Amino acid sequence: MTLSNQQLAEIFNDIADRLEIQGELVFKVRAYRTAAENIAALGRPLAELWAEGQLETVSGIGKEIAKKIDELMRTGRLEFYERLKREVPDGVVAMLRVPNVGPKRAKLFWESLGIDNIEALEAAARAGKLRSLPRMGEKAEQSILAGLEALKHRASGRFRLGDVLPFAESLVAELRRVPGVHHAAYAGSLRRGKETIGDVDILVATRDPAPVMQAFLAQPGIAQVLASGETKSSVRLENGLQVDVRAIAPEVWGTALQYFTGSQQHNIRIRELAQRLGYSLNEYALTRQTDGKEERFADEAALYARLGLAYIPPELREDRGEIERAQALGAGHVLMPDLISASDLRGDLQMHTNWSDGTADILTMARAAVALGYEYILITDHTAGLAVAHGLDAARLREQRKAVDEANAQLAREGIAFRVLHGAEVEVRSDGSLDLPGEVLSTLDLVQISVHTALNQPREVITARLLRAMQHPHVHILGHPAGRLINERDGADYDWEAIFRAARERNIALEINADPARLDLSDTLARRAAELGCLFSISTDAHAPTALNNRIYGVLTARRAWLTPAQVINTWPLERLLAWARHAR
Ligand SMILES: [Zn+2]
Repeated sequence: MTLSNQQLAEIFNDIADRLEIQGELVFKVRAYRTAAENIAALGRPLAELWAEGQLETVSGIGKEIAKKIDELMRTGRLEFYERLKREVPDGVVAMLRVPNVGPKRAKLFWESLGIDNIEALEAAARAGKLRSLPRMGEKAEQSILAGLEALKHRASGRFRLGDVLPFAESLVAELRRVPGVHHAAYAGSLRRGKETIGDVDILVATRDPAPVMQAFLAQPGIAQVLASGETKSSVRLENGLQVDVRAIAPEVWGTALQYFTGSQQHNIRIRELAQRLGYSLNEYALTRQTDGKEERFADEAALYARLGLAYIPPELREDRGEIERAQALGAGHVLMPDLISASDLRGDLQMHTNWSDGTADILTMARAAVALGYEYILITDHTAGLAVAHGLDAARLREQRKAVDEANAQLAREGIAFRVLHGAEVEVRSDGSLDLPGEVLSTLDLVQISVHTALNQPREVITARLLRAMQHPHVHILGHPAGRLINERDGADYDWEAIFRAARERNIALEINADPARLDLSDTLARRAAELGCLFSISTDAHAPTALNNRIYGVLTARRAWLTPAQVINTWPLERLLAWARHAR
């Protein structure tokens, strides 16, 4: 058994991590780390030195560690290490990769709350369970959430939309309150509603940039100031996100906002158009090439109009056909004036309650939906096949129906015109059969099916599986169709054309799941499905009342897919939705 220096160094580092989590004495832990460092930096294979009996000539390798290397080299394993691995789970060691989680905290979380993996750590932090531990507190809990975000972002180099938008909204609101500010907005991929964001560009129109820069640099959560100038400052936040704020003159607001919103591909086309008209375009002005005469634009729409284009909403600016369409419509129009918006939604068709893995009861979810101005919700708790989520079997589903009826009766007594619909998120088993029999499904108002398991089946297998499930006569909605988690796991490898055609034929709506970790269907898949004539639902998959607010991420994704309210079943009035459900096929 020949172990490379790298492998040996990793083993000794891992030993040090596990010993540290166990609370071993500092000097012992340090001895393993020093050995690891020296082995990794060694110019020749340690195996050779071992064969020559010269291990202890390497600095940092004393008698104890030499014995362990000898055991590893001879047998390929180390009893001491095997025991440590049994004592400290791998998932607890993995938590050390999270910025702001050191061995002491990993030990604390593991011993006091039984947290032994990164997912459980995130769930506990989000549920506010870490703050009450010794030497923690709310701020420390926040720093761990920021660390978890930074870890995910490190893998892809990009942040999820939902991790960025609320921060950007509040920063922009704050900058708008600075005296002298005419406008403030975030631009870039964030304004275009992309599912992931590289960094945040904020524009502020003002003649007095100094107080804007001051207010920006005084924000909490800044880890590092990368640049601070008179009209532009850049910072890195604790979660690793870079934020730039630029101050510009109000009369160039239109050109600047257009320029910094992008996308790059869209702007290349726009500049080409300007050149064909005899102009050059940058973030400040449209400049006539013959005499250098400048035209400024205080608003974006005027710039698009000047170039002979209909106004193009930011979500469509990806050079995916929007420029041709805007040209055909011409100046003074708006491309896709009927693009869906959050106010079009009349209800939410996927949410979980404390009947399965949600936190709130049915009535609490209903009241949160009423507060959003909704007319109906569909309760879609998991079915029993998804054992991890306390899914419902036929008997509990019957019981839940009574609870739904009671919630409706209570709301009616209070004079609230609102309807709680009874559904379920029915498991698609690995062979494509559904988790509940048809006679149970027929008692539900709407049935959603979802694939949660065996997502890595080969394309033909998983496509056939889902197509079989979609043939079931009681299915109305396909939940989070791809099953992806942004920055964490790719979705299943379906033959999407076949799935979309089946959805169209079977009159099954495709969900755009608004959970910012999912955004599933994605913008491009949803657009293709729309071209094939499919219907959609935009739902939050909320597991708590506040999560109903995530609808905005689903709406942004739907806008990027060029969807109109007519294509989205939860913009329909209740009667129409129920009629569709009854006569879907
Ligand atoms: Zn689900």
